[in-house]
Amino acid sequence: MPTFVYMTRCDGCGYCVDICPSDIMHIDKTYRRAYNIEPNMCWECYSCVKACPQNAIDCRGYADFAPLGHSVRTLREEAKGTISWKIKFRDGREKDFVSPIRTTPWGSIRPPADYETPSAEAMKSQELAHEPDALHVDALPAMAPERFKEGLL
Ligand code: SF4
Ligand code: SF4
Repeated sequence: MPTFVYMTRCDGCGYCVDICPSDIMHIDKTYRRAYNIEPNMCWECYSCVKACPQNAIDCRGYADFAPLGHSVRTLREEAKGTISWKIKFRDGREKDFVSPIRTTPWGSIRPPADYETPSAEAMKSQELAHEPDALHVDALPAMAPERFKEGLL
C-alpha cells in the first residue's frame, strides 16, 4: 500500500503532483482532489507526503521500519525546519521522530553555466563537479591505495 490521499483533507493545491518523481499523483477532474493513479509505480519516496501542506497523504512504511498494519504520517514544518514522523502501530502504540529539513534557499544554487569548464585532468578525478567547494569543506576524506583492503578506520 503506497501513498494515498485523504480526500477530505486535500484542497487540490497540486504540490504532490508537481513533486512526484513517478508522475503518479494526479488531480481528479471531478472532485478536484489528488490521488495516486498507479500505486504499483510508487517509489515510496514520500516526497509528496513531505510536500503536502494539508498533511493529507498517508503511506505505508517499509517492513523493516514498522510491521504491517501501521500508518506513517509526516508533517513538514518549514518554520521549525523539521519534518515530524508519526508511526502508529496496529496495537495503538505511537512513535514520533523529528528530523531536520535540508534547506537550500531559493536561488542559492549556482547553475552549471556559472562554473568554469573542467579541465581534462579534472575529468579523471574521483571528485564530483563542484566538490569539495560545494560541500563547504577543504578536502574530501581520502584513503591511500595501500589501505583499500583494510577499509576505513
Ligand atoms: Fe510519488 Fe514518491 Fe509520493 Fe509515491 S511517495 S506518490 S513516488 S512522490
Ligand atoms: Fe492535496 Fe496535499 Fe496533494 Fe495538495 S499536496 S493536492 S493538499 S494531497
